Amino acid sequence: MAASDLINLSGLIDDAKCFALVRQHRWSEGARCPVCGSGAVIRDGHDDTQPYRQRYRCKACAGRFDDLTGTVLAGHHQPLRAWVLCLYFMGLNLSNRQIALELGLDGSDVQTMTEQLRRGLVAKAPEVELTGEVEIDEVYVVAGHKGQPAAVAKRGGSDAVASWQARRDAARWRRTSHLSSA
Ligand SMILES: [Zn+2]
Repeated sequence: MAASDLINLSGLIDDAKCFALVRQHRWSEGARCPVCGSGAVIRDGHDDTQPYRQRYRCKACAGRFDDLTGTVLAGHHQPLRAWVLCLYFMGLNLSNRQIALELGLDGSDVQTMTEQLRRGLVAKAPEVELTGEVEIDEVYVVAGHKGQPAAVAKRGGSDAVASWQARRDAARWRRTSHLSSA
């Protein structure tokens, strides 16, 4: 019996907190215009259909953007909480199939999501810097190797690096989640 038969995890996740996490991760030093890079940005209401998705307007170039603009999280039909959970499960080294089961999603959708998340959660954000407390020991166990040595051997080195970065993001996210729920 899958855990999802007992608990609908996605239903327990708070959308407001998911968007707060993205902002914390992406705009740790304040929102910046993804077009011109200016920090002269003002809040400009919220998304029409997603009430916690903050919109912004750039005072320098008059560009408009929101929390997800320019990231892999934008422009997809999955709600943000599905992405957050997907990233969490990637950090736990679940397979795409297991993630699909847990989230009640189609396997090919999950494959697309994990491929995109491996390139980085907020790929176009200017700084995805390492901070002091990253759980290196945890993410260092490149668990793609576990039980799938052939698949790993087939993959190139750059993929392994990208995969490591995704796990690093996942580890940071978990850490942040723990902090904010404490
Ligand atoms: Zn701008």
